[in-house]
Amino acid sequence: MKKTLDFINQANKWGAHNYHPIPVVIESGEGCWVYDVEGKKYLDMLSAYSAVNQGHRHPKIVNALIEQVNQIPLTSRAFHNNKMGSFLMKLCQLSGYEKALPMNTGAEAVETALKAARKWGYVKKKVEAGKAEIIACSNNFHGRTISIVSFSSEDQHQNDFGPVTPGFKVIPYGDADALEHAINENTVAFIMEPIQGEAGIIIPPEGYLKKVREITKKNNVLLIMDEIQTGFGRTGKLFAHQHEDIRPDIITLGKALGGGLYPISAILADDEVMEVFTPGDHGSTFGGNPLAAAIGMAAIDVIVEEGLAERADELGTYFIDGLKKIDSPYIKEIRGKGLMVGLEIKEEYGSARPLCEKLMNLGLLCKETHELTIRFCPSLKISKEEIDWAIENIKTVFAE
Ligand code: PLP
Repeated sequence: MKKTLDFINQANKWGAHNYHPIPVVIESGEGCWVYDVEGKKYLDMLSAYSAVNQGHRHPKIVNALIEQVNQIPLTSRAFHNNKMGSFLMKLCQLSGYEKALPMNTGAEAVETALKAARKWGYVKKKVEAGKAEIIACSNNFHGRTISIVSFSSEDQHQNDFGPVTPGFKVIPYGDADALEHAINENTVAFIMEPIQGEAGIIIPPEGYLKKVREITKKNNVLLIMDEIQTGFGRTGKLFAHQHEDIRPDIITLGKALGGGLYPISAILADDEVMEVFTPGDHGSTFGGNPLAAAIGMAAIDVIVEEGLAERADELGTYFIDGLKKIDSPYIKEIRGKGLMVGLEIKEEYGSARPLCEKLMNLGLLCKETHELTIRFCPSLKISKEEIDWAIENIKTVFAE
């Protein structure tokens, strides 16, 4: 354990304390498994918050990275490169949208969507200058920038970081009537997660997405679907909103788009929205770089060619059924879609954190979210046998 403590102490001494990690120091990984600095093996059931749907170091994605590194990784958008167009074409053909705009992190994709929506509001919907409003949901998580935390309902996200950005309204998640009432002539967009991940794997009532689509369409309001965590097969469909067969106006993507190797994000929309951007409106030094484009194309290919959405659907049901068989007075609820699974413990038992630490000792990595819920989001390549092994260990921890 000495090595582990040395690394943790070093990070604590030299790094800002803006995270509270599980006390494991990872050194390497392959597929669904990672190894710590002591050589101990763990089943990774967080997958970097769903950024590693394809498994750690997928050979096809690693090869794409190496090949592109040996050609040219970065050009900036001052020049064209020969990879970005193919990458954006692949994204559009996969999703059925007319245009894609590449960025790096999830928060940047969300910022891009907010800017697109505001400018669309002024240019196309003819909202009075400076009056555009965007509606978001309580308990949302869309990132950590000042504008994004301006519509967070978590006190910690806003306290001491004000003044916040104006122009946002927050309504309860899963309540279509609240959306209808909140819309006014200045509303340009409604932004939502199809399943709230950080909030504790919160699944809205059936039919909610369909109603949201109807209401936004009727009122000429853009629907922004944040698929950064739920996208690329995680919930058993390529994108989670496809469970209700709707078509949002803007989709934000990130995490697994980078195949667990590189930060890559993007927004998708049709020309009606995307054409509001003109040169100089928006951009990023690294967005759309040839290395990201090469990795992004390989990351998408792996999801499609290996049928990872279908796998998540089948194995997610298997995992959830297995978890539901655990008979423990601690467990309040098991919920999930595909391989996006939450296990909530009863409030009287305090915190899910000690359970995550016990699971770590047994060789299973996961993380609590919002105190009471353990989030299980393994790589979509996980096998039935590995799920059985995980369930046995979870059973052991709850039996203690
Ligand atoms: N949107 C959703 C739904 C997320 O889950 C996250 C991250 O967890 C983000 C946006 C922010 O992404 P990033 O951490 O890459 O900025």
